Amino acid sequence: MDVAVDVGTWPAVWLRDNCPCPQCRVPGSGQKLFQITDLPEDLVVSGVEESAATVTVIFGPDGHRSTFERAWLADHGLPGDDAAGVNGSAESAGVTGATGTVGVPGAADFRTEDGKRLWAGPDAPLPIGDWERYQADRGHRAETLGAVLTGGFALLRGVPAEPGLVATVAGTFGYVRETNYGRVFDVRVEATPANLASTGLALSPHTDNPYRDPVPTVQLLHCHASAARGGDTLLVDGFAAAAALRAEDPESFAVLTSIPVPFGYRDRDSELRAHQPLIELSADGRIRGIRFNNRSLQALRRTPRQVAAFYRAYRRWAARLAEPELALSLRLAAGDCLIFDNTRVLHGRTAFTGTGQRLLQGCYADLDGLASTLAILEDTDKERV
Ligand SMILES: [Zn+2]
Repeated sequence: MDVAVDVGTWPAVWLRDNCPCPQCRVPGSGQKLFQITDLPEDLVVSGVEESAATVTVIFGPDGHRSTFERAWLADHGLPGDDAAGVNGSAESAGVTGATGTVGVPGAADFRTEDGKRLWAGPDAPLPIGDWERYQADRGHRAETLGAVLTGGFALLRGVPAEPGLVATVAGTFGYVRETNYGRVFDVRVEATPANLASTGLALSPHTDNPYRDPVPTVQLLHCHASAARGGDTLLVDGFAAAAALRAEDPESFAVLTSIPVPFGYRDRDSELRAHQPLIELSADGRIRGIRFNNRSLQALRRTPRQVAAFYRAYRRWAARLAEPELALSLRLAAGDCLIFDNTRVLHGRTAFTGTGQRLLQGCYADLDGLASTLAILEDTDKERV
């Protein structure tokens, strides 16, 4: 393979920091064996030797040789200096909300809007997996998990309504995040509910546990029994809604992304608190997380002017998230297990009757484990240590 690469497009220090030689990295894992301060400050490329498959860079002043695969270099091109914010001053990158990695394959943070397929209500993809097939077929498993990363959710059907099985589902792609609610929790009507979830009342779309730090990034809900009437599940793509807010009401968007708000939860055994904005941005200014839960929002302690601006924006945001056309409505049946991104997709339900009937079991897990499992499923050839 003769891929044309121009070594001059990478700064010398970048090439050296990415040197794959066994002096610089542990073979296999690729863990670096040096500190940035171990490298000469006046590094230059003093020579280049090319072969069909590789490019060897010789560095001055120390004469170190780094041999790169051409294909690797071709895959790791840098955006041009004219791309907004990139390689510019940190100040301009921060202030302008740069989108410097957009369009550079593999460069974007998959957790941000740049790694997602956004949807609204009826346009939502409805990825449906089958539990039997999911367990037997790597491709089907990859497809289902990929849907959670890009679309924000997947529905697995045919998961037997057995106690605790929802944790087994989580274990197929990661690790259960045990909390003060336990490893697995029930969502059912209770006689003396501590939480609105344990009633038959409607729940407006929300994210779970914004009062945790870090917040659980994946939620699973496994239906054991559905209500006779009502209790339909609603899903809203919070990233799509936030992107629309940014386009139509940038002032509210700026307030919601810049004012951290306190979330809290307390009961006899727990006192949980976290401060985060309702819409979280990456350092590049891209939408990266949604926290929305009216039940656990605590008293905001900012200047009166900031408080007024926050409530104006919060009201608009809440009204937008409640718009029926944004919601995908699903009727979960016994055996259905919903897996969704709790940093992006809001979930809610319609009111229901039939006390004691409807039962969901839930648990939390995390996106990093899910993404790792997906990467392994999709790449069986990569050398592993
Ligand atoms: Zn080296």
